[in-house]
Amino acid sequence: MALHGSREREQRQHELARSRRSRASSQDPETTAQDSDTVAEAIDLCKDYGDKDAVVTALDHVNVKFRRGEMTAIMGPSGSGKSTLMHCMAGLDTPTSGKVIVESLEVSSMSQKELTKLRREQIGFIFQSFNLVPTLTAEENILLPLQISKKTIDRQWFDKVVDVVGLRQRLTHRPSQLSGGQQQRVACARALMARPSVVFADEPTGNLDSRSSREVLGFLKSSVAEYGQTIVMVTHDPRAASYADRVLVLADGQVTRDMSHPSYEEILAVFSDPDSEDHNSDTQTEAQPTDYAQQHTNPHIADQPGMIAQNEVSRD
Ligand code: ADP
Repeated sequence: MALHGSREREQRQHELARSRRSRASSQDPETTAQDSDTVAEAIDLCKDYGDKDAVVTALDHVNVKFRRGEMTAIMGPSGSGKSTLMHCMAGLDTPTSGKVIVESLEVSSMSQKELTKLRREQIGFIFQSFNLVPTLTAEENILLPLQISKKTIDRQWFDKVVDVVGLRQRLTHRPSQLSGGQQQRVACARALMARPSVVFADEPTGNLDSRSSREVLGFLKSSVAEYGQTIVMVTHDPRAASYADRVLVLADGQVTRDMSHPSYEEILAVFSDPDSEDHNSDTQTEAQPTDYAQQHTNPHIADQPGMIAQNEVSRD
């Protein structure tokens, strides 16, 4: 895939940002001024689970800005708050206090209806378990979110995305006829079809072998470089995180490191230092499947967009 010149790319990013912001501000929810480089922001974000007898603090005053056109990896030990942060940012979970802002809209104060609209229009999701509809072809899966929200399909964009993820010859295949890597590439294409402001990816390579992981990560990275896509990815895998422009490390619900363009070795060093508070016994040294999906089941996910429940789908 040819890379465009940096000026052309900047101009494209600028135009996309402007159209996304105007899409966002045409909605009703409360708006909060945000600088144009910031797509999503957590302000003093706290999340407690349980009641006063047994409170678990999953997020402890997190402040972070996710910048436009950047791929950020969120790492940290199991239970450090990665999924909770991502779910709060995506409007899948409600913070106990603090704010989440996406495209200048205050997500934390939205009604369910507003949240559904936000997730359909501004946010793309990629999950470890692909979440494709087994009875639909690859093409039908990619187009499904747009069809559900009755959006016009931009065929030129569809062709571009399909070519970039290398699925041209597989469009009529059903998920069971595709490899894991191909299924995840379908999920990536689906997440990008609506040109969301931000894609949240939860262990996108957790079920893939290392070759398929490289393909999927390479594609995600090129969507950042080519189209200014903003991606926030939770991962246990330092190799996957080394594709990111920025790596945030969480421990006990707080951001403990914010690394810019770290190498694989630098990321590995953070987690292999036994004295470090970030030390993570789950961190993988090679990409390999984990049982992450079994450990992290968010009750809201099944009825959220991007992740379309079977009963929403009807075939002729
Ligand atoms: P990570 O994604 O880093 O593994 P999580 O965000 O899933 O961490 O969890 C952070 C903390 O919050 C953990 O202690 C976890 O047990 C707790 N937690 C997460 N979800 C819930 C829940 N629905 N109910 C109670 N505790 C939860």
